Amino acid sequence: MNGQTLVPPPDTLDDELVLLTPGPAGTSQRVKDAMLRGDLCHREPEFADLLARIRRRLAQAANLTESHQAVVVTGSGTAAMEMAVISSVRHDRAILVVNNGVYGDRLAKIARIHGITAYEVAPDGDELTRWTTPVDPAQVRAALQAHPDIDAVACVHHETTTGLINPVAQIGQVVADSGALFVVDAISSLGGEDQDLADIHADILCGSSNKGLHGQPGLAFLLCSDAAVTRLHQAPVRSLYLNAATYLTTQQRGEVPFTPAVQACYALDEASEEYFEQGGHAARSALYRQRAATVRAGFERLGLRILVAPEHRGNCVTMLHLPDTVTYQRLHDELKARGYVMYAGQGNLADRFFRICTLGEIPAKRIDELEHALGQALHAAGAR
Ligand SMILES: *Cc1c(COP(=O)(O)O)cnc(C)c1O
Repeated sequence: MNGQTLVPPPDTLDDELVLLTPGPAGTSQRVKDAMLRGDLCHREPEFADLLARIRRRLAQAANLTESHQAVVVTGSGTAAMEMAVISSVRHDRAILVVNNGVYGDRLAKIARIHGITAYEVAPDGDELTRWTTPVDPAQVRAALQAHPDIDAVACVHHETTTGLINPVAQIGQVVADSGALFVVDAISSLGGEDQDLADIHADILCGSSNKGLHGQPGLAFLLCSDAAVTRLHQAPVRSLYLNAATYLTTQQRGEVPFTPAVQACYALDEASEEYFEQGGHAARSALYRQRAATVRAGFERLGLRILVAPEHRGNCVTMLHLPDTVTYQRLHDELKARGYVMYAGQGNLADRFFRICTLGEIPAKRIDELEHALGQALHAAGAR
């Protein structure tokens, strides 16, 4: 040291940097420690036990134990989306995608990359309107009637782009009436949103290890109904690595087809145990709802405007208008210096909005202190 003392910013003290990002999400010390359980070969019986436990708990976390089987793959959440899309559509059939955000758009892109016809439904209006309006189930019904070749309908439950909730239970009913499969991206909603996922008629539910389940990033999964299991054996093999039928068949025997991220499995095992110890979906969704209420009240006191209407908001992502005189980068850096990492908007919304996401492991004290830190950061970044 050259005689200078390092003085920590007043709000962070010795605390860790808090991730206010919709992935990676913060994890508990217990989950971090679980990654140090040691090396393990996936061909040993200990791995089969670990995998069986994880698969059972994933179905349980979504309240789908009786009706759905888990398929676990090493990859980020997008791996689950790609697996679900390409394994749910038969040869010469099509998919209908509900597209009101970046992740809905990604589902349609995946289909087209694999040569699958993708029809889309979206709310009317410009991009900002489309991205802040839930899709009307009647539009889905009309599209299903117009295109009899639709084999599956795919929809994002919580659009992380803006923090918007789509009416998946109502859309699921329309899809069930049509006989198509319902594929739901629940990657950022599983665990933390109010909707009971047992009530949405999903045939394939996509999830990931990190977001609302508080595991480490690195694993993605599908929860498949009996109809989905039948379908994924009928769909053509469109990918070597992401063929759901291959994973399901091997995992039913306690094996995996390719080298898994073993340490991410340890972390998910621990995180799911912690999830149920803490009270499962009821407790986690209540925690997320409470956090959202706390931080949003603070945003209001700071004079910040939230993009999505209150009745359409989920429990974790809040998309905020950037004040006129403030740039995203400046505000990000000022808030980071005060112990929090925020998240930029996506696409054309990147320079007009920013996102604060409160999913993952975050100490309650740091949720309470956010208003003060953000107020200081706004001031330092030049907000009037
Ligand atoms: C995070 C997320 C994904 C997956 O993104 P990855 O970067 O692949 O983990 C997919 N859908 C939604 C709605 C998400 O929030």
